[in-house]
Amino acid sequence: MIQRALATTGLILAALWCSVPPHAQPATGDQRAAALARLVAAYPEHLARIEGDMLVWKDGTRMPIDDGRGGKDHETRLATADIEDMLTQPYSAGKPAAPPTLNEDPGRARNTAFFDKIYGDCMKGEVSRHLVEVPWLAKKGGKPLKVTRINGVAEVLKAVSAELDALPARFDAYLLPAAGTYNCRPIAGTKRVSGHGYGIAVDIATRHAHYWRWSGGKAGKAFAYKNAIPFEIVEIFERHGFIWGGKWYHYDTMHFEYRPELLDKLPAAR
Ligand SMILES: [Zn+2]
Repeated sequence: MIQRALATTGLILAALWCSVPPHAQPATGDQRAAALARLVAAYPEHLARIEGDMLVWKDGTRMPIDDGRGGKDHETRLATADIEDMLTQPYSAGKPAAPPTLNEDPGRARNTAFFDKIYGDCMKGEVSRHLVEVPWLAKKGGKPLKVTRINGVAEVLKAVSAELDALPARFDAYLLPAAGTYNCRPIAGTKRVSGHGYGIAVDIATRHAHYWRWSGGKAGKAFAYKNAIPFEIVEIFERHGFIWGGKWYHYDTMHFEYRPELLDKLPAAR
């Protein structure tokens, strides 16, 4: 009995160990400080500074960077992300050399209190009042999209759209019609609101999109990586502060989300 219990404990520990993504290794003090400095710089209208273990907002609010719960497995980190958890997995801009590794999901962890405070809580109707229409590939015949104007998101999406609109016609099928922006709904299979609930995410066309759940993926079960989105499109979004769901192990290749804190260079259009 004891042996069986020990064996079971071993299996559970092995499963927990395997579910810790490679990029979740403790960052050095310098890496942590640099990631936090990027966070403050990425939300200049809202954030003032880092003070010890606190994120200090311009309105005087202080948020703990670390909730002290430590050692979270991947699903727990996504479900209960603190400020630090949002930044633990670095996002690599540029052409990917290989598919994402197990549970490499940079940007999927969002601290709800942080995003609610910046963009509002969509469940309380606080996001929709800040949505504005942005032209989407108007020269190619696209219809306007609604995103938040907070933190300059509408302005940067306008710049993204202008560059995508200048791409050759062979890219049109990936971009038009866009599959959606604002949507106050939890992520499938979770209670968490996605970037769409804050008006900071864009889904390009579904025609060539791949999504891990459409490939039969379930939490804890392996599935194959698939992507058909040309990197030329990704590069334009990244340069303007958007991350791409095609760089997630739990991939969502039509999904782009404004997360400048995860990119090295802040967008020029702001
Ligand atoms: Zn999406």
